[in-house]
Amino acid sequence: MNVMRRRHFLVGGMGALAACSETPQSSAPVVSEEQHHWRMVTSWPPNFPGHGVSANRMAARLEQLSGGRLQVEVFAAGELVPAFEVLDAVSRGTVQLGHSAPIYWRGSIPAAQLFGSVPFGMMADQFNAWLYFGGGLELWREAYAGHGVIPFPAGNTGAQMGGWFNREINSPADLNGLKMRIPGLGGEVMQRAGALPVNLPGSEIFTALQTGAIDATEWVGPYNDTAFGLHQAAQYYYHPGWQEPSGALELFVSVEAFESLSEELKGILEIACMAENDYLLAEFNTRNHTSLNTLVEEHGVQLRRFPDDVLDALRGFSLEVVEELAATDPMSGRVLESYRAFAEEVSAWLRISELS
Ligand code: CA
Repeated sequence: MNVMRRRHFLVGGMGALAACSETPQSSAPVVSEEQHHWRMVTSWPPNFPGHGVSANRMAARLEQLSGGRLQVEVFAAGELVPAFEVLDAVSRGTVQLGHSAPIYWRGSIPAAQLFGSVPFGMMADQFNAWLYFGGGLELWREAYAGHGVIPFPAGNTGAQMGGWFNREINSPADLNGLKMRIPGLGGEVMQRAGALPVNLPGSEIFTALQTGAIDATEWVGPYNDTAFGLHQAAQYYYHPGWQEPSGALELFVSVEAFESLSEELKGILEIACMAENDYLLAEFNTRNHTSLNTLVEEHGVQLRRFPDDVLDALRGFSLEVVEELAATDPMSGRVLESYRAFAEEVSAWLRISELS
């Protein structure tokens, strides 16, 4: 096994080689095996289906692909830092890796929200095309650079659900005064529609909904929502997930830690993230439909589509929200310009391909 591994000569090793050159019969130069023991903090409950399992899988793959040179210990939300302090922990250098969602960082990086999901925006395939071929990933990394971290796309939920409601939504007026857990740009849109949005980490959603502290919540989709038992706390399950037509997950690494890697391990990290970005989307596309069947057929969940006038109102507010963000934050302005131009370009192809 060891012979298969690439050896890395550290500066000290090269010095030793030079010093030894006058005494060729001495032992081989000092060789140092590259070895990293990293910690990854996440925003997810321990082993949480989808997101948390994906973080664990990433850690295992990095260890496997690096031949054990990059070992990663994963911490669930609250084990080292709370769910919404993952970015700070990596930024400070307390830990090397964070697994989270860009939608959570509106307070410190306003443009991050646009990489999480844009309400009524692109779906996962088009979003990934923008990241890899449309300049999106470069902008994402530029947006995070001031925090000393490098983001990698590391998974996608695909289109989410609109959420769980304990009363029916039959008109835009039904959103008035609705206390709903919905983070990010979607939350701002709901506020303009008259609702009272709150943000809660995943682990607190069920209790808040069951006790009536909130009237509604969005989380992800049938697979994740079933794992939280949300169907036991509200009966109406609405679609579409206008707020997140694509839900990006991210792995970010501290710049300092990343620079300590050999070029080979940097490449392994990048490719492992690209693989997981695809793999997790495939997993959600598989498990969401089986979970939805169970919710409807076994648990009697009432599936509802938002009425057109509700969606029209939310679409109008969404445009306002993203345009105001773009007008007040220059980085967000550049991101939105790139995002929209790409969405426009791919839509012509999308209309005659998948949508057709
Ligand atoms: Ca969501």
